[in-house]
Amino acid sequence: MMKNLNRDELLSLAKSFDPKDKCPDCLSLSCEGWESIPGGFMTNSLECVGTLRVEDAPECWEEDLLKGMTIWSTDAPISTAFHPYNKSDVFECKHCGAKYLRYTECGGYYVDERIRELNAKLIS
Ligand SMILES: [Zn+2]
Repeated sequence: MMKNLNRDELLSLAKSFDPKDKCPDCLSLSCEGWESIPGGFMTNSLECVGTLRVEDAPECWEEDLLKGMTIWSTDAPISTAFHPYNKSDVFECKHCGAKYLRYTECGGYYVDERIRELNAKLIS
């Protein structure tokens, strides 16, 4: 079973990693904001350490963004109760311990795997 993480647990996970310690793979991945996972990126070096999804929670598609921001903004807050964070799992790089959020965007006729670096400063 996947571990459910609340906001405080997410924050301490985020703080447990120093971006200075990134391995070359993680350095090659630029995802301050949400990005589609690049085809060449080794996702098997990422290990799932928990989820922000709450079982049986009512669906919430609301986004928590300030004026002028989009879901892609690099400074968009990480608000665990809001879309897409409420659909995200938390991953850790097996090499360096970098933390990421991932979720799958399912459009009408496409599926897009997205990833965003977990930045403690943005957790609201
Ligand atoms: Zn790494």
